Amino acid sequence: MNRTMAGFDSVSNEVGKFSLASKTVLVPEMSRSGSRLLVATLRGFGVDAQLMGTYEGLHLGKRFTSGKECFPCQVTLGDVIHRLESEKERLGDSFRAENYLYCMAEAEGPCRFGMYTRLHRIVLDSLDTCSRVGIASVTSADSYSIGGALHRRLHSRLRRTAFVAIAIGDVLDRMLWRTRPYGRGQGQADAHYEHALTTMSSVIEAHGWHKGFPRILNTLEQIARQAVDIVDPSVSPKPLIGIVGEIYLRSHTASNQNLIRLLESHGAEVVNASLAEWLNYVPYRLAQKAGRNAAYALGRRDFGSLYRQLRIWLHHRTELAYQYLRLDQVYRRVTRHLSIQEDHRMGRVERQLNDDRIFSFRLGTEAPLSIGGALECGLAGFDGIVNVFPFGCMPSTMSSAILRPILEQLQIPYVDSVYDGTVQPNREAVIRTFMYQVAEHQEARLAQRESGRAPRLTAVNTEPTKWRSPTRPRRAV
Ligand code: SF4
Repeated sequence: MNRTMAGFDSVSNEVGKFSLASKTVLVPEMSRSGSRLLVATLRGFGVDAQLMGTYEGLHLGKRFTSGKECFPCQVTLGDVIHRLESEKERLGDSFRAENYLYCMAEAEGPCRFGMYTRLHRIVLDSLDTCSRVGIASVTSADSYSIGGALHRRLHSRLRRTAFVAIAIGDVLDRMLWRTRPYGRGQGQADAHYEHALTTMSSVIEAHGWHKGFPRILNTLEQIARQAVDIVDPSVSPKPLIGIVGEIYLRSHTASNQNLIRLLESHGAEVVNASLAEWLNYVPYRLAQKAGRNAAYALGRRDFGSLYRQLRIWLHHRTELAYQYLRLDQVYRRVTRHLSIQEDHRMGRVERQLNDDRIFSFRLGTEAPLSIGGALECGLAGFDGIVNVFPFGCMPSTMSSAILRPILEQLQIPYVDSVYDGTVQPNREAVIRTFMYQVAEHQEARLAQRESGRAPRLTAVNTEPTKWRSPTRPRRAV
């Protein structure tokens, strides 16, 4: 009898924090580099982690959902069912679903990301092959704490190493997008990226668990040095596009139908928002929440609660400070050799949104990051913004409604790119039109610069060989 027939207790009992010891841990692919380096980190800590193939099981994900779910929920469900069925086929009678743990993150807040694991549990319970697989989830509600997964003394180390690995994944992606449009030879940048990913995986697996960061960073710097040789300096600067939007869709190339390559094929240089951005946003918001709760406790003269909230506040601020420190170290090793776009600080993004009364971090979701990220791109002199999201995504629909009039006022070309797994015949035409506007924007921007007039919005001159974040926040509207 499968679990659905036995009841829905498993939705709360069989989803959560489990020990990873002696299990095969299946990690879904989101960003190729981030997921692969996360797997390397886990393996370094002795976990038998494996990266699942992706998108091959989409038909399964669609078969077991109604069509009202978010697209990433269908893709990830299809990935895990497909992997378990393949394992069963490979291992035959010795296959035991209980030997596997499926990893899935979740988030608190008003959108449906908190429900993926529950829906996945219900579907997996209804399938004989999959019903005994555990779902190990980490949640943004406790800043992705991994309590219970490994020995207690390893928790903080694993979490911090995972952050560094994901930041390095972001940087490898940015090196690829920075070099590919200016590559000397066809496929050279992609080959360098593949080599870099394999090298960084091995180094992180071997040295991440004992905080071997100097060695990891040295290897990264060596990779950045090699990347410089790929760039042909005689190629003219290409218009710069910023991608914002829903984290899974913008990072998962199969789901977004390889949008970055499509934009590049039309002459763009692209910078996608990072994964580390979200990982910084989570402790930033949790610290804010603890700060508000502490103020409330002080007003009530509840000193016990005040003490607890201050401890929570301090914990999240410390984590954030650590992450910023590591992030700076990672980016510095690369920007010494190759100029790549750096990540923005959360406080700066929030100030900009607050100053202009555009949106509030208090509302949560990814919307503040998409809106704030797009405005940051505007300030840094980008020539166009693409908002990438799954069909029906609530936070991204809000972002779109807010961004469209602001960017129109700023005369920065903007387009929504929405995905649900189907092929839209007019997408190419939309991108072509967008790229025409983007090329005009670049032309006007360069002409303004040559004539000595200050660009309308640009806070720094954006050179293809050197970017710097604006040093002072400026009002966007
Ligand atoms: S962010 Fe969008 S796609 Fe993701 S769970 Fe929320 S509504 Fe769904």
